Amino acid sequence: MTRIDVPGHDIVGVRASNPGPFTLTGTNSWIVGRDPAWLVDPGPAFHDHVKALVEVANRRGGLAGIALTHQHADHAEATGAVCGEFPDVPVAAAAGAIDVPLADGSTFGSLEALATPGHAPDHLAFLFGTAALTGDAVLGEGSVFISPDPKALASYLEGLSRLRERNLDVLCPGHGPMVCDPAAKLDEYISHRLDRERRLVAALAGGKRGVDEMLDDVWDDAPPELRPAAAVTLAAHLDKLADEGRLPPGVERPAFAGPA
Ligand SMILES: [Zn+2]
Repeated sequence: MTRIDVPGHDIVGVRASNPGPFTLTGTNSWIVGRDPAWLVDPGPAFHDHVKALVEVANRRGGLAGIALTHQHADHAEATGAVCGEFPDVPVAAAAGAIDVPLADGSTFGSLEALATPGHAPDHLAFLFGTAALTGDAVLGEGSVFISPDPKALASYLEGLSRLRERNLDVLCPGHGPMVCDPAAKLDEYISHRLDRERRLVAALAGGKRGVDEMLDDVWDDAPPELRPAAAVTLAAHLDKLADEGRLPPGVERPAFAGPA
């Protein structure tokens, strides 16, 4: 478990000990403000992680609310355990079993929600001053997988552009180190997605139609353990091309059980 200080902002991160190919060095839970504080993404339900969150929150005058960027277990699982320590604290998110439903532009205490669908259809980022808590919309390193949903990839790119317009000076991501040059990171994310699209269009133009050959061409840098996630993202890319009338006939769409 690691503590992350965010210079110039009244924000502290607590990183859980759940490293992995998707969680990088672990999930970052963020506690913002004080008297009282707000918690973004309680993280996995590990006893020591919850204990650390409760200690930080108590040092900051208690907790006024819990906001979830999305409902994946590595971000939301400890919600119940933290609520057990702060029984009247409301839980807010865009979906799921929550107390306060949020949508794009909603405020929750000192947090402002900004819709960033893509990794999950109901994903939110939270703005706190000139900082953004980005969950799995933008990570500290690497890229995220996009979960197919109508317009998922186009909406994801739009969310990134809207974050880019906010003149932020730090991103506090759900995984990986904090990002001190948000404009550069967001530009990198947008151009990364457009580069994948350009390579996919080239592969299709070259006659590639099967999932494996498209992945070999376009995601040749993906390590084996991330290939299933790349296939999920490939489906979102194919959906975008289909929406735009740019998908040739006869292209195999990846089969999968649902969002990972
Ligand atoms: Zn995550």
